[in-house]
Amino acid sequence: MQMLINGEFIDKEDKQEIKNPFNGEVIDTVPIADWGDADKVIEVANNAKQSIQDMSAKEVSESLFNASLDLEEQSEYIANLIVSEVGKPYKQAIVEVNRSIETIRFAAEEAKRIYGETVPLDVAGSSNEKFYGFTKKIPIGVVGAITPFNFPVNLALHKIAPALAAKNTVIVKPSMDAPLSTLKIVEILNNHFPKGVINAITGYGSEVGDALVVSTDVDKISFTGSVATGLFIASRAGMKKITLELGGNDPLIVLEDADLEKATDAALSAFSCAGQVCIGVKRIILDNKIADKFIDLFINKTKQLKIGDPSDKTVDIGPVIDENAAIHISKSINNAIEDGAKLLLGGSYEGCLFEPTILDDVNMSMDLVANETFGPVAPIIRVDGVEEAISVANNTQYGLQAGVFTENINHALKCVEKIDSGAVLINKESTFRTDNMPFGGFKSSGMGKEGIKYAVEDMCKTKLIILNHI
Ligand code: NAD
Repeated sequence: MQMLINGEFIDKEDKQEIKNPFNGEVIDTVPIADWGDADKVIEVANNAKQSIQDMSAKEVSESLFNASLDLEEQSEYIANLIVSEVGKPYKQAIVEVNRSIETIRFAAEEAKRIYGETVPLDVAGSSNEKFYGFTKKIPIGVVGAITPFNFPVNLALHKIAPALAAKNTVIVKPSMDAPLSTLKIVEILNNHFPKGVINAITGYGSEVGDALVVSTDVDKISFTGSVATGLFIASRAGMKKITLELGGNDPLIVLEDADLEKATDAALSAFSCAGQVCIGVKRIILDNKIADKFIDLFINKTKQLKIGDPSDKTVDIGPVIDENAAIHISKSINNAIEDGAKLLLGGSYEGCLFEPTILDDVNMSMDLVANETFGPVAPIIRVDGVEEAISVANNTQYGLQAGVFTENINHALKCVEKIDSGAVLINKESTFRTDNMPFGGFKSSGMGKEGIKYAVEDMCKTKLIILNHI
């Protein structure tokens, strides 16, 4: 596939092969752009600003809606592209595409309700002058959207769609692990907007990504990815606005009074997308009183999951993104076992296919849970009571979302108040997200919120207008 800049497909001699992580086959290639190409696309996006600002809110909204219809029409094709470049099982890829259609539609609606407010200026005391004060939300300008490999369509749209709704121009830089489906949605959107309004550039983060981050002609960077990259971007972005949606280490707390059938079903989301979900269940914190019963049920349910070819519509767990990821996951598991964790299930891999793995007797000093493992691993940490569960849940640099299973309202409220994360879900796992809700973590998990309404807010500037009426 090619890049899309100023409404044209652009190729380069220098190319990267994109491989299917399940079978290693080369699916396609994409150009490796350089700093000079990034400068050109930044110029294009700046030149196109007026063309989207000249569109009425109605036109922007309709363009987004029409793009969502195209996406709907091509949903099978795009889901299969996600399957082959990410290795995401088809059942999960089609859910991502269906959610993406909704994401664009939320943005189409939001484009029609970007309001300012009136400001009472008589607070400064009375005089002969009468001021009318009001604010107007105006586009921020050029938005650089830098995205990760694991949800290449919906997470890119969580940046592109609100940016367009607020009448900005956009430059998308997808992950080089999975750029194809992102390029496809940019192509779809480009068909509904003036040329240069939506652009995509492919290349390495350290060059093309960095060029967007440091440019004074890019007005906002909206980034989703790892903590390490997020911190680096924050150190390089200068005065521009940034939103950082970073890694997580989300706990699933199961207290003594929980419904264990529901809690074990929830725990299975540790294996969704082979564990490569920022809000996946990454630590299972069990009250000792129910731990053994929970574990029996959980192991039985995990054994029923089907692992294998992600294009098989019955498969639940596909490969991780590449063999390096599998090696990293395996090392973290083996280190934990050496330090006293007990392997209950799985633990091995072949190529990029990693078995769903359950470990008991894990503690927070182990790298497996101190850092984000990003693989199909369910580490169990045993605790006594709600206080210790909360303390373990908070003993991490991350704070994205947290799930708690309990039938006790006092325990539920204590968890809601004391767990330090962007969302606390009672009787639901952290992996839950709808595309309108405010989404974003605390601590090292990020800065700012996504969810269309919140992203639109962050992609506008507020201008104050004062009229003096004598
Ligand atoms: P990553 O940080 O390796 O890469 C993300 C993007 O940043 C890629 O497009 C990459 O090319 C680019 N990049 C790399 N170096 C850069 C630099 N110096 N300047 C600018 N851009 C640069 O992340 P990944 O491995 O693709 O994705 C997995 C990570 O993303 C996990 O940590 C996961 O938790 C996180 N994630 C977070 C959320 C969320 O909403 N909070 C959602 C999905 C994934």
